[in-house]
Amino acid sequence: MECPKLNIVVPCYNEEEMLPKSAPVLERILTDLIKKELIAPTSLVCFVNDGSRDKTLEVLKDLTKKSARLAYVSLSRNFGHQSALLAGLFETKADIYVTIDADLQDDPEKIGEMVQKYLEGNEIVYGVRTNRDTDSWFKEKTARLFYRIQEWMGIKTVYNAADFRLMSKRAVETLKGFREKNLFLRGIIHLLGFQSAQVFYPRASRAAGETKYPFFKMFSFALNGIVGFSIVPIRLVTIMGMVISFIGFLLLLWSLYRAIVGGNMAGWASLFSAMMFFNGIIIFSLGVIGEYIGKIFTEVKGRPLFIVDQKVGLE
Ligand code: UDP
Ligand code: MG
Repeated sequence: MECPKLNIVVPCYNEEEMLPKSAPVLERILTDLIKKELIAPTSLVCFVNDGSRDKTLEVLKDLTKKSARLAYVSLSRNFGHQSALLAGLFETKADIYVTIDADLQDDPEKIGEMVQKYLEGNEIVYGVRTNRDTDSWFKEKTARLFYRIQEWMGIKTVYNAADFRLMSKRAVETLKGFREKNLFLRGIIHLLGFQSAQVFYPRASRAAGETKYPFFKMFSFALNGIVGFSIVPIRLVTIMGMVISFIGFLLLLWSLYRAIVGGNMAGWASLFSAMMFFNGIIIFSLGVIGEYIGKIFTEVKGRPLFIVDQKVGLE
């Protein structure tokens, strides 16, 4: 049997400090696997430069010149982590793909285990982290809340699985058939089905550089992961509207009764706070609906997810 070709896809955004550290590690792992005859000698580490504003591209040019096992795809501007991952999957050719972040917070030594699981017949192998010690208290709590909300809304993902995973060529080809532009990969990959397995590892902290996911980006990423997969929020707005109308109706009956029986209802303060409360709910509801309209807006335009500027070291 011929060995499968493996491409390790590494999205990079402003990673000039990290790349000189992570490239040799990934290359060594790849070479080891080639030596063990688990993967083909043509296997590659494919970096995706996601429109970095620092010297990432120069560093990549330098690295790929020195080694035939390193290659890169450079995007025309910054498209974001998920698009960079897709560029790596769609713009390079292989039998198996492993995606891993450039900071190597996810244990690259597990790639061998993933390949093993692929050889056992799995089309998708999820890397699942067993700890979150390296995250801040806030990030851990918000992440947990996010998974819980997703679960509650019926969105299936693998708990604590980030974007460190193996995908077979078949899985990637099937993914290409998804026409939607809002590709929240963690959610979509689950929809592919296929036989899958998991590999467990403790997550390390970033060795150099800083996180490219500040709070606001994380928030919009999470919102995307919900609005892109579930219409439960819209349903909640409907239910909330019904409940509030019902309460309003009861209050109406009560005030009619008071008007007939006599006696004034007190209350500037109560009226004002009720008004503010319901105004808040109305604006919030408009926001929820707006989120979905925004999704439709971007989907309808159907703009490309990424634009390739150049490819080096790839056929
Ligand atoms: N990344 C990217 N484009 C972006 C933001 C991030 O390609 O617009 C890459 C980044 O270089 C890294 C990975 O995505 O390889 C994950 O980012 P990071 O480690 O900063 O996220 P965190 O681990 O803090 O969630
Ligand atoms: Mg990271």
